[in-house]
Amino acid sequence: MQVDYLIIGQGICGTMLSWFLHKEGKTFIIIDDGNENTSSKIAAGIINPVTGRRFAYTWMIDEVMPFALQNYEEMGSYLDSKFIFQKSIIEFFPSPQMRNAFIERLTENDTYLHSYPDQNHFNQYFNHDFGCGEVRPAYIVHLQILMASWRKKLYDLNAIKEEKFDVNELKTADDFISYQNITTEKIIFCDGANGINNQWFQLLPYAANKGEALIIECEELTNEHIFKKGLMLAPLPVQNTYWIGSNYQWEFENEQPSQQFYNHATTVLNGWLKKPYKVLFHKAAVRPATLERRPFVGFHPIQKNVGILNGMGTKGSSLAPFFAHQLSQNLVYNFPIAPDADVKRFNRILSK
Ligand SMILES: Cc1cc2nc3c(=O)[nH]c(=O)nc-3n(C[C@H](O)[C@H](O)[C@H](O)COP(=O)(O)OP(=O)(O)OC[C@H]3O[C@@H](n4cnc5c(N)ncnc54)[C@H](O)[C@@H]3O)c2cc1C
Repeated sequence: MQVDYLIIGQGICGTMLSWFLHKEGKTFIIIDDGNENTSSKIAAGIINPVTGRRFAYTWMIDEVMPFALQNYEEMGSYLDSKFIFQKSIIEFFPSPQMRNAFIERLTENDTYLHSYPDQNHFNQYFNHDFGCGEVRPAYIVHLQILMASWRKKLYDLNAIKEEKFDVNELKTADDFISYQNITTEKIIFCDGANGINNQWFQLLPYAANKGEALIIECEELTNEHIFKKGLMLAPLPVQNTYWIGSNYQWEFENEQPSQQFYNHATTVLNGWLKKPYKVLFHKAAVRPATLERRPFVGFHPIQKNVGILNGMGTKGSSLAPFFAHQLSQNLVYNFPIAPDADVKRFNRILSK
């Protein structure tokens, strides 16, 4: 079977790349092993325009957020579903210092930060001592539903194989790639945290970290917003269910959920949420994060038909659509990839 491209992995990166290639009329096969504990399947899918203790604007947010909105909406119409929802983030300040930092930032620039007029509005749901502010617009993307809907379409297109990709079966030459009975022009790895061991790209400066989340049921909580007090509490598509997370572990013994996170998250909830809740699930996955917090997009300097779309770190929901589009335009029209994201910046390391 001859296709234009072979894609490894159908997380949010492989999903968005194949979506844009499909729109361009290109053919491809995706190989994905169907692992349930991957970053895109565990993530809350929040697009938060601010980050850190100083509420700094997230890298490229003015470009990537509207781009993500437009493309998730377009994909939703195509698949007869809705994947992205605007939900402002209600930020409960954990200390007077954080409240002051928010106000200071808001007076400098109020594009995404807003004061919340009725400071008692959420008292029926939450305990809080230092008030709250609002981050708006922000979004939640239902990644699991999006990826499952696209996978169905991929089956209709005969464009997905559910199995583990085995590099020993791959044959690469300068102008030719084959894998089992598939021949193709290029192979693109969208294999998330597994990519850290990828023989072509393992020298890239990854900083993978494990994150965990609880899925809870709470019948009396409003799903109008995402709430934050240290941890994020975000509504899920199933009624009365919420996602609470996360943590960042750069050193970990295994990829399993830990008792330590469970204790931390339930302690936070018990002190913050006034309504009864029940823990339904506890999940963990490894984020494909990078040392300089910028993605890895583009092609290997020596094996030029081997590509990568990875390193989305904590921001896959907003960065993956933008950079998947860039990579698709590079593949189809040879348009350039943003220098901050292009793996060309590591050509010396990758040429070793
Ligand atoms: C707890 C947690 C919370 C998060 N919350 C958010 C959030 O709110 N907002 C946000 O923007 N980001 C969030 N993230 C980060 C986000 O999830 C990632 O940036 C994103 O999912 C990475 O997507 P990916 O497609 O690169 O990788 P993955 O989602 O890991 O996808 C890789 C795919 O490749 C497949 N694969 C790998 N190797 C092989 C192989 N050899 N053969 C076959 N298939 C293979 C895997 O099974 C998987 O399906 C969170 C992450 C975690 C862990």
